[in-house]
Amino acid sequence: EFKENTAIVVFGASGDLAKKKTFPALFGLYREGFLSPTTKIFGFARSKLSDSQFKERISGYFKLPNEADKEKCSKFLELCSYVSAPYDKDDGYIELRNQIEKFETSRNVKESHRLFYLALPPSVFTVVATNLKKNVHPESKGLARIVIEKPFGHDLESAKALTQSLAPIWKEEELFRIDHYLGKDMVKNLLVLRFGNEFLNSQWNKDHISSVQISFKEPFGTEGRGQYFDDIGIIRDVMQNHLLQVLTILTMERPVSFDAEDIRDEKVKVLKAFKPLNNQDILVGQYTKSEDGSKPAYVDDETVNPNSKCVTYAAIGCEIENERWSGVPIVLRAGKALNEGKVEIRIQFKAVPSGMFHNISRNELVIRVQPNEAIYMKLNAKLPGVSTSTTLTELDLTYSNRYKDFYLPEAYESLIMDVLHSNHSNFVRSDELEVSWALFTPLLNYLESDNAPVPEKYPYGSRGPKNLSAFLQKHGYVFESDDVYQWPITRPK
Ligand code: NAP
Ligand code: NAP
Repeated sequence: EFKENTAIVVFGASGDLAKKKTFPALFGLYREGFLSPTTKIFGFARSKLSDSQFKERISGYFKLPNEADKEKCSKFLELCSYVSAPYDKDDGYIELRNQIEKFETSRNVKESHRLFYLALPPSVFTVVATNLKKNVHPESKGLARIVIEKPFGHDLESAKALTQSLAPIWKEEELFRIDHYLGKDMVKNLLVLRFGNEFLNSQWNKDHISSVQISFKEPFGTEGRGQYFDDIGIIRDVMQNHLLQVLTILTMERPVSFDAEDIRDEKVKVLKAFKPLNNQDILVGQYTKSEDGSKPAYVDDETVNPNSKCVTYAAIGCEIENERWSGVPIVLRAGKALNEGKVEIRIQFKAVPSGMFHNISRNELVIRVQPNEAIYMKLNAKLPGVSTSTTLTELDLTYSNRYKDFYLPEAYESLIMDVLHSNHSNFVRSDELEVSWALFTPLLNYLESDNAPVPEKYPYGSRGPKNLSAFLQKHGYVFESDDVYQWPITRPK
């Protein structure tokens, strides 16, 4: 089911996000038949672009897997047009309203449905939101929704200020704060996985789980975007938002229903149960040149301060003080310029009582969010054949093996579809945002103070700082060497 006759306006349509994510996602939805051909799409920005320059720019990253998609691309571009105007004057918004009304009249629309996507730097969120409300909101004649992108503030205070500046203008139910991790298919699967399987549901607590890890690994550095990164660091970039979002879904109590507010209520509750982060329970790092010298150090990026203490790797110990989780070590870790790119959740279970066994491995559930979505549970079994020894094997759900010819939407596609259907489940509510900043702000202040620890250096292309293994071990993680867990396994010699 799709919404007919929606007017979508992308602000900052000349920019990077619009080109790389927003328009490709709108096109992806159209290509797959999830966006109605009765939709009208406007780009809005200050840059003076001709119609063809605009269309060329926004279509640069479109995915066209089949010959027929080229035709779809031209049809899609026919739905798009561009308005160039300043963000702080009424004229452009009045022009936009006139164009939207013309479209709505031509479609004989009884109730307007308008979606505004702010692909803009946060410095202009409030002015655009204000002028939109004043000039383009359909008010009693229909529905409007507004989408904003991270960063939602730089710390608790600025996040509150942003919320307070938008609150009088746009209602919370009209606002969609995008955290694109919530649009990833595997993240969307967590609720079903946890609450739809009694064998997991019943074990999902401190009595059975010995450690939880969520890890984000990127195989590249800042690659010239250091200036942006230097003020932000890895914690603001991916941990306070993306990884914490995943962690709340992984640890919250069962929501009463799939209703967005039921889900978000539970997320807020578990966030409030987090122990304040301990400044001493962290590991921070910064990458240096790769061992062979071919890849640069972080501070070789000409756009960053050569003495920068910016954190490009962090591991943070967390604890949740509630009945379910008290005492279970939780580690969030994220880094740039590592040996591989992946995002995964790793839940390790307690050891089985020994006695009949010696050195039997622990169960471990791995949920690989990306790439190559997979869920596997490491499991002990008897080695097949005449042998009586045990082996560590797995129950394995690898999406590409199990699901043939499924279309997995990009995170942005999935989220824009949610916005079109007014489903807030996968968007960040204001109180949730506030609790998450309250949790991280003291740690960030410490890391930016004079007492901040010097980040441990690690070579570009490595697993991260040397102390990582010890840090994980201290947080209860038992690493099995390649001799113990082999994948795939071959017949022993
Ligand atoms: P951008 O390219 O710097 O800006 C988008 C557009 O906004 C520009 O083309 C420019 O258009 C206008 N603009 C830029 N600076 C402005 C200023 N100081 N005052 C008024 N207008 C200005 O930004 P972006 O990378 O697309 O990101 C947009 C938002 O998404 C930001 O909040 C960013 O943090 C977030 N985000 C971006 C990415 C990404 O991959 N790029 C990923 C996640 C989140 P005109 O000059 O033509 O008006
Ligand atoms: P793994 O990549 O071998 O790592 C297991 C965990 O131990 C990771 O958290 C890893 O951290 C950490 N680690 C790695 N080396 C360490 C060391 N020297 N000291 C302490 N900790 C260390 O993952 P695995 O789950 O055991 O799987 C092994 C391989 O089989 C992987 O390549 C996996 O993709 C593959 N596999 C695939 C599937 C599937 O696709 N369905 C199913 C089962 C297994 P880092 O991530 O930071 O390195």
